[in-house]
This record gives sequence, C-alpha cells and structure tokens, in this order.
Amino acid sequence: MTTLAEPRLLVNGRLVSADSTFTVENPATGKPAGHCPVASSVLLDDAVDAAQHAGRAWAADPASRRRALEAIARVLTDNAETLARTLAREIGLPIKDAGFEVAAAAGFARHRAATPLPVDVIHDDERQSVRVHRAPIGVVAAIVPWNAPVMIAVEKISSALAAGDTVVLKPSPLAPLTLVLLGGLLADVLPPGVLNIVVGDDELGAALVSHPGVGMVSFTGSTATGRAIMAAAAPRLRRLSLELGGNDAAIVLPDVAVEKIAPKIFAGAFYRGGQVCAAIKRLYVHTDVVEPLTAALARVAEATVLGDPFDPATTMGPISNAAQFERVRSLVDDALTAGGTAVTGGEPGPGPGLFYPPTLVTGVGPDTALVAQEQFGPALPVIPFDDIDRAVEAANATDFGLGASVWTSDVSAGAEIAARLDAGSAWVNRHALVSPEVPFGGTKQSGVGRANGSVGLDQYCELHTVSVARPRTR
Ligand code: NAD
Repeated sequence: MTTLAEPRLLVNGRLVSADSTFTVENPATGKPAGHCPVASSVLLDDAVDAAQHAGRAWAADPASRRRALEAIARVLTDNAETLARTLAREIGLPIKDAGFEVAAAAGFARHRAATPLPVDVIHDDERQSVRVHRAPIGVVAAIVPWNAPVMIAVEKISSALAAGDTVVLKPSPLAPLTLVLLGGLLADVLPPGVLNIVVGDDELGAALVSHPGVGMVSFTGSTATGRAIMAAAAPRLRRLSLELGGNDAAIVLPDVAVEKIAPKIFAGAFYRGGQVCAAIKRLYVHTDVVEPLTAALARVAEATVLGDPFDPATTMGPISNAAQFERVRSLVDDALTAGGTAVTGGEPGPGPGLFYPPTLVTGVGPDTALVAQEQFGPALPVIPFDDIDRAVEAANATDFGLGASVWTSDVSAGAEIAARLDAGSAWVNRHALVSPEVPFGGTKQSGVGRANGSVGLDQYCELHTVSVARPRTR
C-alpha cells in the first residue's frame, strides 16, 4: 500500500516508485505537505499499455465492474479520515469539508455501481427491432484540477469504469497526494491496469492527451487548458469531455428575506474559499435590498473563522496554492485601484500561510477584471440593478456559462428568470448543488458535454445501434 511517507504511482496494479520526486506545499503553513513521485514518459507508456490490455476482459464483465465500483465506495468510506486529512494538508480545505468531499466521492461511485448500462429500444414490432447498446470507448485519460481532486477524479473513474472503459488518471501537480494515496488503497481492489495513476506537470498531461493508445480525454480544469486539449485532440478526433471554468452570476430580486438568504448566498460564493467552479462569482442585487443584503453578507464574512484547516472551529482555510493566491490578490487590488470599495477583507491575512479573508467589493463596473474574469477565490463583487431584464443581460454577458442562480420569494417567477440564464445549470434559491444523478456542465466556454446523470455516463460510451429487419410472416 502507498503511505504518505512513501507515496508511489499505480501502474498495471503495481505500486511504483520514481527516480525523481517533488514537494507539495501545505498552503496553511508553507511547509511540505508531502513528496510525490514524478512519472517518466516510459511510465506513461506503461500506464496506457496496461489500460489497453486490461480493457478487453473489463469490457466483457459488467458484474465485476459493479463489484469494483462498490469496492471503490467502500475504500473511500473505510479510509475517509486518512484521505480527508491528506486533502486538508495539501489544499488547505477545512477538515470537515475535506471529509464531506471524500463522502461525496463515495456517493458518486455508489451511484454508478447501482446504475446498469441501459439499452434503448427504439423499435420492437413485427417489422423490426432497433436497439441502442452502450459499448466502451477504450482508455480514458482523466485529467483533473487541484480544487476538488477526490470528487472530480472519482466521478470520472466511476463513470469510465461503469461504461467498461479503463483509466489513466493524471492529478494536478498542486494536489496529487490524496489521489496517490487512494491509488495505493485501490491497488489490491481493482484488476491490474483498470485504473492507473501517473503524476507530473502540464507536459505530462499534454503527452497523455496525444498518446495514440487513448480513446477519450475527460478533462476538468481551466478554459485555457480546455482549448489546448481540444486542439491537441483534433488530429485523432479524440472523444472529449471538457468541464471548464465559470463566472457564475446570482441575481437577487427585491422580494427576498434578506437575513434568511444572506448565509446561503455567502456559502454559494465563499464555500471552500470560493475555489469552486460553480461558486457565485458575481452578485447582482436589486437596489431596494442592496444595502441590507451587503450589510448582512458583511456580518457573515466577519463571523468567518479563517485559519488552521485542522481546527474544528475553522470555517475557511487558506487559498490552496501560491499562484491562485496571487491571482485573487491582484484582482482585488485592481478592483480597488479602479475605484471599488472593500466592504470586508481587501488584503491578505497575516502569514505564514496563504490566508485571504472573505472580501466583498462594491462600486465596480462590468469591465473590472474582478467582474469580467473568473476569480476562483474569496472575493465577490456586489453589483446593484434596477431592471430585471438588464440584470439578466448582464448575467449572460460573459463567455462563461457554467452556473447561475435567482433568489426570490416567488419561486415561479424565479424559475422563469432561471430559464433565461445562459448556463448549464440555473438554480432558484440555491447555488452549485451538484449530485450524481443530475447533469452538470457548461455552455459557451465553460465546457463541452455534461458530467453526471445518464447523459454523463453516455459520454464514456460508444452508442452502438443494432437494427434488425424481421422476416415478413405472410
Ligand atoms: P488547469 O487547467 O491549470 O489544470 C488542470 C489539469 O490540467 C492539471 O492536472 C494540469 O496539470 C493539466 N494540464 C495543464 N495543461 C495541460 C495540457 N496542455 N494538456 C493536458 N493537461 C494539462 O486548471 P486548475 O488551475 O488546476 O483548475 C482550476 C480551474 O478548473 C478553474 O478554472 C475552475 O473553474 C475549473 N474547474 C472546473 C470544474 C467544472 O466542473 N467545470 C470543476 C473544477 C474546476
């Protein structure tokens, strides 16, 4: 088994060391969270070969696949504490939230275990039988970001394995430790080669995308990388699932109960320090309620306990890595220079550690980078509006289209406005609710395809139509 003291990569059912390692930094302390082996290009080839070889038997055995998915859920549940502690150490997530992520990942595996591959019966009459079966694609390159590595990786692994595909997983170099540990726990649970885990930098990801043995790339990460992957996948017309960045708007109507919704909106924007693809990243508030709502949000921000992820009292940890910390700091600095006001926060907390307090910014326009770009951190612009049509227009005036929400006491009016929001998911009186049975993904530059639900499973399948003419009986 892989331990934190000696993490090893998973290739063809074996745990392998590497000639070189790198250090993953604990963002709460600036000290090492652990050391991780780096996969060479030879090891990458071995991983893809192993996945190809394992594919034949795997594709033919749905009962083993179901048992394997149940076993993945069990391993996650039985080792939840160790996995959550490692996750808290490497990305600074409060321990309770890290435990929630591991439990949610187990839920995704359990859901796929319980969902057999469907067969669609299009025609079944005296003239013909037309059925659509699901066949595996082959080797899935699963490439994941640093912000929710366990949940995102397990969703991809579970969907691919359920479809009969095999997987080569490449974690982010900023958050590989928990997934490497999980690989060690799964080494004896899954048949060799069905799941392989290789860690390395962005170039290793690019080499995996272009590898001739790969049939599909399932990617979650930034829009810029999604574009590069789409271009690299073009020569072989490789199947793609792209779950990319977002700049979600929330629209608050004048009829809301301010005190009741403030904690929910705050959580929608600042849960996990705002490092959530579908966090609220722009808040449009009707002028009738903008002052009381901003004040109520400020009270929640001031009650936030920013600190040690292992202290049970902590409600927000540090920003997960130095590059992201610098991005948030520069977006807030730019907004303040452009005339914005920080109602709360506005500058980094004391070190060591990458702490940045929840920051509400008012007085910024649509062209301010904090509004126009994805901040992916604990900073939220609050923008007043008078006219709902203008607010919908502003919410939609972005290249992103991941999520959006409407907050109102009139849920049918809310649902009508939600239907006009150009996003893969539009919520009313909630935000970023993601579950295994509900499709999730982005329009425009937030992605291609949908994860979760039956449509999410179909992404990992070849649809195979069998059309049979029946003999005439007279
Ligand atoms: P990133 O694009 O920098 O990296 C993601 C992964 O891609 C890493 O493993 C990285 O090593 C790899 N990679 C980088 N360049 C590559 C290339 N050319 N070819 C192949 N692989 C390559 O993203 P990040 O900073 O890790 O993640 C943050 C972003 O992810 C945010 O934009 C966030 O919104 C997005 N995200 C989206 C979702 C979603 O479901 N839509 C979920 C979580 C995060």
